Amino acid sequence: MKIGFIGLGAMGKPMACNLIAAGYEVHAFDVVEAAVKEMEGKGAIGAATAGELAARVDVIICSLPNAKIVEGVMTGKGSVFDNCKKGTVIIDMSSVAPNSTKAMAQKAAQKGISYIDAPVSGGVSGATAGTLTIMVGADDETFQKVKPVFDVLGKNIYHIGEVGGGDAIKMVNNLLLGCNMAALAEALTLGVKCGLSVETMKEVISVSSGRSYALDAKLEKFIMADQFTGGFAVDLQYKDLGLALEASRDEKVPLPMTAAAVQVYEAARAKGQGREDMSSVVKVWEDLTGA
Ligand code: NAD
Repeated sequence: MKIGFIGLGAMGKPMACNLIAAGYEVHAFDVVEAAVKEMEGKGAIGAATAGELAARVDVIICSLPNAKIVEGVMTGKGSVFDNCKKGTVIIDMSSVAPNSTKAMAQKAAQKGISYIDAPVSGGVSGATAGTLTIMVGADDETFQKVKPVFDVLGKNIYHIGEVGGGDAIKMVNNLLLGCNMAALAEALTLGVKCGLSVETMKEVISVSSGRSYALDAKLEKFIMADQFTGGFAVDLQYKDLGLALEASRDEKVPLPMTAAAVQVYEAARAKGQGREDMSSVVKVWEDLTGA
């Protein structure tokens, strides 16, 4: 099985490396040429375009910033759909809306291509260690066909249901992550203003009911270290909350917490922190309160 990997960013690069280490022939493409060169140095076969890569492989994985970019890569000029063989399986591991994946899967089916969603959780460290949680939306046959690939990339592999199912649960998960992080930022600020040290809050809340993944993964590594490079970008978390708000309109489900959290990430973006780790929202409160 030859694998094509499109999108060699924070997540894509370590995932592609793990596939090479597992013995797969991996073809790699990214709009950033340096990323392709770096992957060639790690044993991948570089491609000049997504279409060129598509013509060479049996399975195509993409890990791209958003649905608009995914659609462009799949159906635009020199696209994947126009160049891949019949029977190719395309696995979108980006975080996008369930409805956009369903639309892509319909277009793919007309060309004899299988298109499935498999978004992930676990961050860059999970991608590097091959311990991601992978949430798959696919028919049974396609899922079984590509399961060995998921086994290389992740530890917890869930076949959620039909196409779009993986995207749906990822969207719900990231609604919680985004709200939890925004809540942690304001809670820490209030605590500091009330005279508590961040160290004390970390120690006590870590063993109390306010604990969250945001606290475990973000407080010490990013907030207390006062460094926000790497990790999961503010822009990406903002995008994921937007997916939930879009779905809330379609499904008529009010999401007041999500709507409020989006404004926190919007404020961080306005401050020029879009590429920083999502935990940099604490700096919005620092600026507002001097805490
Ligand atoms: P990233 O911005 O680091 O990487 C995206 C890559 O896509 C970049 O290398 C970029 O050059 C490339 N790209 C953009 N347009 C392209 C195009 N037209 N053709 C080919 N390549 C193109 O983003 P990331 O953090 O790796 O995230 C990728 C996806 O995974 C996103 O959908 C994100 O929401 C999701 N995700 C990220 C994390 C995380 O912790 N970073 C965790 C879970 C899920």
